[in-house]
Amino acid sequence: MLKGKTAVVTGAAKGIGKAIAIAFAKKGCNIVLNYRNAVSEELIKIIEGFGVKCIAVKADVSNFDDAEKLIKTAKDEMGSVDVLVNNAGITRDNLVIRMSEKDFDDVINTNLKGAFNTIKHAGGIMLKQKEGAIINISSVVGLMGNIGQLNYAASKAGIIGLTKSAAREFASRGITVNAIAPGFITTDMTEVLKEEFQKRMIDSIPLKKAGTPEDVAEAVVFLAENRYITGQVLNVDGGMVMN
Ligand code: NDP
Repeated sequence: MLKGKTAVVTGAAKGIGKAIAIAFAKKGCNIVLNYRNAVSEELIKIIEGFGVKCIAVKADVSNFDDAEKLIKTAKDEMGSVDVLVNNAGITRDNLVIRMSEKDFDDVINTNLKGAFNTIKHAGGIMLKQKEGAIINISSVVGLMGNIGQLNYAASKAGIIGLTKSAAREFASRGITVNAIAPGFITTDMTEVLKEEFQKRMIDSIPLKKAGTPEDVAEAVVFLAENRYITGQVLNVDGGMVMN
């Protein structure tokens, strides 16, 4: 079903984004790897090893013009934009009284406005195609809040509202829009946390282990394949949040 389609994955050079790009390549999708700083030739080769096309496009998704260039390049080079995964994200943690205005703005601009920027440009293409799937990576922190992450929690809660609104706007053309709320996933983003904190986090997870980028990638592919789920938030969190 996904074979021969084009998947655009933002922030795909490492971590969860990299696992998502590989998971779509395994399904036979051509891959547009978005990166901000650098992407390895090795990753491109891994993806091409699945017999699909892969291009890497440098773009800062928080920048409106860069996001437009990313989506335009995807369409021009691959012929369509069928799946869009808004994965690029950053943290700039601090207690609110110590949080700088820049750290608030940077997190909102990357994590929330970045998704607006890509959906704004990919949405028109998908509407004309009358098909498409958009998956936005939120976080359990967007559902629960977290000390020291006011900016991040606001961006990830915002992603949920954005997802539900886009789902309603695009539904009549068969385009689905969903969000994934990962819990504690082992990547560079969580490796920087103190070992003691990581241990406490894992103890608090019902399944008693951290998730892997592949756990999230599997759920993203599921939401791209399924054509009757839209406007939903799927938690991939070992049971941290039970709605
Ligand atoms: P990583 O820090 O490992 O990777 C994030 C990626 O996003 C990097 O490749 C980074 O590129 C890229 N990126 C950051 N800013 C931009 C930008 N402005 N434009 C384009 N790319 C950008 O994080 P994870 O893989 O852990 O996180 C992926 C997503 O999952 C994020 O949205 C995160 O918030 C979310 N998430 C992660 C959880 C976890 O436990 N790890 C839990 C819940 C949600 P570069 O390295 O070049 O800066």
